[in-house]
Amino acid sequence: MQERGEFRVSVTKDYLVFSSAHFITFAGHRCEGLHGHNYRASVIVEGALNKETWFVFDFVELKHVMKRLCDEIDHLVLLPLQSERVGVVENGETVSVSVDGKPRYVFPRKDCALLPIPNTTVEMLAQLLTERLQRELQAAGASNLTAIEMEVEENFGQSAVYRVTLT
Ligand SMILES: [Zn+2]
Repeated sequence: MQERGEFRVSVTKDYLVFSSAHFITFAGHRCEGLHGHNYRASVIVEGALNKETWFVFDFVELKHVMKRLCDEIDHLVLLPLQSERVGVVENGETVSVSVDGKPRYVFPRKDCALLPIPNTTVEMLAQLLTERLQRELQAAGASNLTAIEMEVEENFGQSAVYRVTLT
């Protein structure tokens, strides 16, 4: 076979979901109240064929990693650690959350996912999942991959896609 073109493999599964609570801040002083979504993730990886297996990446392993990444934040309150407006402070077994300096919520620590992002938008969640997946794939020795594209949907027809090119 001639080496022409590139391959994309995609994984979208009913179990690649995470049901999580969050709130986002908007421009100015607007801020949502706490609410939840059944988020759905899907991913595409691109790259050269592995000439031993004739696949780009093992589907089973890709699904397995994605499921684990989704499970890590499933059934938790997603909180941003890099927000300029949302303060997140751990106090032993609780997490205190303030917005614009005003106390807003206190959660059990075990029910929170403290995330290194500035706002819990689907854009930032897609980027975070991509970075985590990229680390996992590199650790798995997937040096043939050229791009990862991650979609996170928070409602039907409402999603963000993040794409990173790997060099
Ligand atoms: Zn929301």
